[in-house]
Amino acid sequence: MLVIEKKKEEVVKVAKTIYKEKLVFGTWGNVSCRPVENRIIITPSGIPYPDLQFVDMVVVNMEGDIIEGRWKASTELPMHLAIYQAREDVGAIVHTHSPYSAAFAVVREDIPVVIEEQAQIVGGIVKVAAYALPGSHELADNVVQILEKEQTAVLLANHGLVCVGKDLEMALQRCRIVERTAQILLHSKLIGNAHILEPQEVEILKRNYLAGYGQKEGVYTQ
Ligand code: 13P
Ligand code: ZN
Repeated sequence: MLVIEKKKEEVVKVAKTIYKEKLVFGTWGNVSCRPVENRIIITPSGIPYPDLQFVDMVVVNMEGDIIEGRWKASTELPMHLAIYQAREDVGAIVHTHSPYSAAFAVVREDIPVVIEEQAQIVGGIVKVAAYALPGSHELADNVVQILEKEQTAVLLANHGLVCVGKDLEMALQRCRIVERTAQILLHSKLIGNAHILEPQEVEILKRNYLAGYGQKEGVYTQ
């Protein structure tokens, strides 16, 4: 199916981007998307990012049976499947081990809303899912408990970050923003008192962004 082949290329592109932007290192982290109903494309387990090609992508169904691919799927497949199962609106998932987010995950402290782009694109506080072993069904359950509502990002205790989106670009952008927010917040705490935005301020930021940020559709093309 052409759409699946095209999306494999996109998953590879995002995987290489998180590596280049140092949101992951080595072979850790993983990326997936749901191009059509009952099909998930996911990165293979433990293959260095620079080597990844579209032929290395693994295609599974919602039960996790391998439909296509020569490699073992990411060990976090249970978590990816559980999220897709719980959230019909989710079309893509990016899991990173980015250092500032991981620092908050280690102290198991939620990241409150402190900057504009976090309010606008992530949409709210980033909570910590209870600790469980990487790759376990328990971790998948803990993550889904947080993502059940409208959350778009979740910290994995002593591990890393997971962001979801309607597409790969959105899930990736959320990972970047959460990481940047964690970095800013950590530095703010070092300087002094970090001021947290009130829920009503967050709502206004979101509303203004949706109502009129940027140029009219189709006016600006890069
Ligand atoms: P995979 O290489 O199996 O995707 O696992 C990396 C990881 O981040 C586990 O949490
Ligand atoms: Zn991980």
